[in-house]
Amino acid sequence: MVFISDIVRQMPAYLFSQIQRKKAQLEKQGVDVIDLGIGAPDLPTPEFICDVLDKEARIAANQRYSNYQGIAEYRKAVADFYMKHYGVEVDPETEVIALIGSKEGIAHLIQAVLNPGDKVLLPDPGYPVYQSSVHIAGGEGVPYTLSSEFEYKPDFKQISDVTAKSAKLMLLNYPNNPTSATVELETFKEAVDFARKHNLVVANDAAYSLVTFKGYKAPSILQVPGAKDCAVEIGSLSKSFNMAGWRIGYMAGNKEIIQAMLTLKSNVDSSQFIAIQKAAAAALKSDFRSVEANNEIYYERLQKLHHVLTELGLEVQEPKGTFFVWAKVPTGTSSQEFANKLLEEAGIIVTPGTAFGQGGEGYIRIALTVPVKRLDEVNNRLRKVMDK
Ligand SMILES: *Cc1c(COP(=O)(O)O)cnc(C)c1O
Repeated sequence: MVFISDIVRQMPAYLFSQIQRKKAQLEKQGVDVIDLGIGAPDLPTPEFICDVLDKEARIAANQRYSNYQGIAEYRKAVADFYMKHYGVEVDPETEVIALIGSKEGIAHLIQAVLNPGDKVLLPDPGYPVYQSSVHIAGGEGVPYTLSSEFEYKPDFKQISDVTAKSAKLMLLNYPNNPTSATVELETFKEAVDFARKHNLVVANDAAYSLVTFKGYKAPSILQVPGAKDCAVEIGSLSKSFNMAGWRIGYMAGNKEIIQAMLTLKSNVDSSQFIAIQKAAAAALKSDFRSVEANNEIYYERLQKLHHVLTELGLEVQEPKGTFFVWAKVPTGTSSQEFANKLLEEAGIIVTPGTAFGQGGEGYIRIALTVPVKRLDEVNNRLRKVMDK
């Protein structure tokens, strides 16, 4: 251990690897394990996107280093997407940067904004990468609670002035992982007002911005008038276009932050493969029929599972976005105990809410990333286990 930095040695444990070990163990014993723990699409990348990569990968000019900020064509596709979908103007030259996936963008945003010891307001429950990125930057995560009583929106009144004043950055994530909550523009307005009042940066992680159903359209934080004074949005093609392994996303908004990201990133990486940026530009410029088709699939799965969970007496809300179901565990059990029970007695992997922070106690997250047929099997097994 003498070779390893304190920061790495003190990294928060990654709970998912523990679950994967248990899964391997059970599979060795011949158990047919159904994994509803993974938060990544099981569906393939649309053909038309792969076709662009096929073609562009062979062009010698595309095999060189990309512009550090991302190629102009990709940044313009992002800017056009903001105009077309949200009516928001962003300058592709100064207000957009390509990311090697949004996970990279989150880690670098935090490093670009924080001095050691600075505080960051983080959702609890929340995507674990936020806390580990704050740790890497030598900052301090200050959780704000997302609770069912407040529809998993930040309760700005609960955040004391002292806490708010001492923070440098606030992270939001809507549509939300793990709770599947969605918001209207009003919540982003409150967030921007709050950020202005306390002089902080506010960032929305919009990884699920296009994974929505039932006619719901997720707003962008940049739609709030004047948002660009203090806000950025982080977008990803991983979930909406099933491109998780391609590693492509973007950040848009406040110029000063985009410039800082460029300064930082140009010293760390050299952006994404040009052919991948071209394929991602084609995705953003498309008619989004592939997105709608995926959303229909997730919605069908959602209905199937939701119906049975409700029948079994588990309290669940029917989400308008993301591919997660956030279900309350039966009274008297903890998240971890219930997740263990499902794995041991039904061979089903779900994620205990506490994997996302203490605020997730009492809940499990179920990912709808298996085909409907497998969900029938899930439902059969759940009925058996819950009848006992
Ligand atoms: C999946 C996910 C990401 C990571 O997306 P990439 O663009 O693939 O890095 C970011 N935020 C949340 C909340 C996610 O669930």
